Amino acid sequence: MDIPKFIQRNVSLASLTTFKIGGSAEYFVRALNLEILKQSLIWAKEKKLPFFILGGGSNILVSDKGFSGLVIKNELKKLEKRGDIIIAGSGVFLSEFLEFALVNELSGGEFLVGIPGTLGGAVFANAGLSNQFISNLVQSVYFLDYHSLKIRCYLNKDCDFSYRYSCFQEKQGVITQIELKMKNSSQDKIKALMAEYRQKRANLPSLPSAGCVFKNINLKEIPPSSLEKIKKEFGFPEEFCKKGVLPVSWLLDRMGFKGKTIGKAQVSQKHANFIVNLGGATADDVLILISLIKQKVRTKFGLQLCEEIVYLA
Ligand SMILES: Cc1cc2nc3c(=O)[nH]c(=O)nc-3n(C[C@H](O)[C@H](O)[C@H](O)COP(=O)(O)OP(=O)(O)OC[C@H]3O[C@@H](n4cnc5c(N)ncnc54)[C@H](O)[C@@H]3O)c2cc1C
Repeated sequence: MDIPKFIQRNVSLASLTTFKIGGSAEYFVRALNLEILKQSLIWAKEKKLPFFILGGGSNILVSDKGFSGLVIKNELKKLEKRGDIIIAGSGVFLSEFLEFALVNELSGGEFLVGIPGTLGGAVFANAGLSNQFISNLVQSVYFLDYHSLKIRCYLNKDCDFSYRYSCFQEKQGVITQIELKMKNSSQDKIKALMAEYRQKRANLPSLPSAGCVFKNINLKEIPPSSLEKIKKEFGFPEEFCKKGVLPVSWLLDRMGFKGKTIGKAQVSQKHANFIVNLGGATADDVLILISLIKQKVRTKFGLQLCEEIVYLA
């Protein structure tokens, strides 16, 4: 197969993920600019190869066998400001975006502090904390469509944002640029807010993970019989009713999953919705642990958990 110079072969992916798990990409490219990104997609198309867009690798589990296709590591790093709007390449890390916002005295994104992904990955998953989402800041998203190879601008209302969801999860292509509407503020106020949010995350697991494994569940989506069983077994804090959400970490904690270990993958002792890599965990270890948790929750409460993490296989 003729391979363009910018594409590498058999690149290990484990070190490019926060889980530190997984095999190699058969083909791999660092998309440093739009031109390389486009050329890579064209090449994958010509060769009929599947492709995967990799941001910070902080929400994915890569198969032990790796990926027989092209992994495109998004490194589009533009960062500009126009008044109170920040225009950012999708490969900009949230930490880089927050630093830029701080220097320019632009507030609004502080709740994203400590989330180890890129802006593209954050928009894809509508990342956030409690009831704050990146969608609250997004003004528009530029998306390179795999089929037409054209870039289309999506206004916030076109992105169908909801809890951990955006329309980009249904599309083939790449989020290339995001425009975020900020508020003018002062460095002191922004630093204080960031410190507050950092404090909230102080007890999160520090071992390698991919963040929360499962999505929290909207109370409206829980069958009444399941809710009754949960209430009978564990009681039900009033605040969950107020927020209208069942935090999966609470349920898994009550069910005694903390510390449950398969191979070198463990349900974190600090947070029951995190699976951590104790060192040398395989993707299979994690997958077995995930299916065991799902099966027990289904059998006991008739409730189907949905993964927040994305599988790359
Ligand atoms: C310690 C820890 C704490 C975390 N805390 C939080 C939290 O508080 N809130 C939260 O919401 N999440 C949290 N996460 C999960 C994760 O950081 C976020 O979901 C983040 O937004 C993922 O971004 P990423 O760039 O790492 O995406 P990746 O993991 O690289 O990719 C995830 C998915 O997004 C797609 N994708 C990425 N970039 C693009 C793009 N440019 N175009 C199209 N598709 C793209 C990928 O193809 C993949 O399907 C946490 C993770 C860890 C490890």
